[in-house]
Amino acid sequence: MKRRQLITAGSAAALAACAPKPQGATSNGRQRFQWKMVTSWPPNFPGLGTGVVRLADMLDKASGGRLAVKIYAGNELVPPFEVFDAVSRGTAEMGHSGAYYWKGKSEAAPFFCAVPFGLNAQEMNGWLYHGGGLELWRELYAKFDLVPFPCGNTGVQMAGWFNREITSVDDLKGLKMRIPGLGGEVMARLGVVPVNIPGGEIFTSLQQGAIDAAEWVGPYNDLAFGLYRAAKYCYYPGWQEPGPTLECMVNKSAYESLPDDLKAILDACCRAINDDMLAEYTARNQDAFKQLVETHKVEFRRLPDTVLAALREQAEIVLIELAAKDAFAKRVYDSFVAFREQVRAWSAVSEVPNFQSR
Ligand code: CA
Repeated sequence: MKRRQLITAGSAAALAACAPKPQGATSNGRQRFQWKMVTSWPPNFPGLGTGVVRLADMLDKASGGRLAVKIYAGNELVPPFEVFDAVSRGTAEMGHSGAYYWKGKSEAAPFFCAVPFGLNAQEMNGWLYHGGGLELWRELYAKFDLVPFPCGNTGVQMAGWFNREITSVDDLKGLKMRIPGLGGEVMARLGVVPVNIPGGEIFTSLQQGAIDAAEWVGPYNDLAFGLYRAAKYCYYPGWQEPGPTLECMVNKSAYESLPDDLKAILDACCRAINDDMLAEYTARNQDAFKQLVETHKVEFRRLPDTVLAALREQAEIVLIELAAKDAFAKRVYDSFVAFREQVRAWSAVSEVPNFQSR
C-alpha cells in the first residue's frame, strides 16, 4: 500500500472511531451498539482481567445484546498506559484501568484509585458513591471527554516481597524496589530507590537481583506470578494501596449516544462488577494465602510500627505537596481527607472492634 493510501485509510478509520454510532439493530428493531473496550491488563489476568470479561458478558445479557463490548487486553489495540488517551479520543468507546496511572493528566487522579494510607475498599465506595467523590471524579474526567464509573477493587494489597529483613527505617536505605506511583515517592523519601517495571517482569528482576523488593498485588496475583520463589519475606500491610478502586471509563459522546435504559444498565453493571471483583479477590486471596503459608512456607511479616509511622509521616507530606500543585487537586484532597478522618473515628468503634472480637 502506498503512503497516501495508508494515510487515507488511517484517517477514515480514525474518523469512524471518533463518531460512535449505533451499529445495526436487534431483531425487534432497537438500536444495537458494538463497542470496543481497551484495558491495561494482560488477557484474562486473574481478578482484573476476569472482572472485565464478566462486565462485558453482563452488559451483553442485561441489554439483550444491544450493548455488545469487545475487549482488548493491554497492547492488543493500545499499550496499557494509553487507555486513557484512547478512550478520550474515541479510538475505543470504553476502557478499564486504574486512575492512579493518570497522574500525568491531573495531580488529583490518584485519589480516585488509591493513595498511601488512604481508604479501604468499603470506605472508597462510601466516599465515591455517597460522599461526593464520584461527582469530583466526573468533573475531572469531563475535561477529557470521559465518564468514569467505579468498577472493581482488589481490597488491601501487601506491602511487598523483600529479600532482606526490614527491622528499622535504616533497612530501607538503598533498597531497590519495584513500587510505582505515590507509594514509590513516599519510599524514596526514606532512601529507597523506587523503580517501575511491568508486572510480567517482576519475577525475573527479583530473582536475578536486579531489584531487592517488589510490591505487586496480594496472594491471589502474587502466587500466580510465583513471587514466593524469588523473595523470602512477604511484608504487610499494603499501606501504599489500602483498597484501590478500578475504573471503567466511557467516551463522553459514546455515552451520550446511548438511550436512557442502556445508560442505566451500564451504571448497574459497573456497580455489580465493582462489588464482584472485590468478592473474587476476597475469596481467592484467602485460598492463595493458605497455600503460600502451608505449601510454600512463606514468612508473612508485619512491617515494624516505626517503619509504618515513618511511611505515614512522609505520605502525608507527599499528599499535601500534591494538593498544593493545583486547585482541583486541593478540592479533591480536602474532600478525601475529611472523609478519611471521619470514617476512621467511626471505624474505631465499629469495624475495628468487631473484627478484633471475632
Ligand atoms: Ca500494587
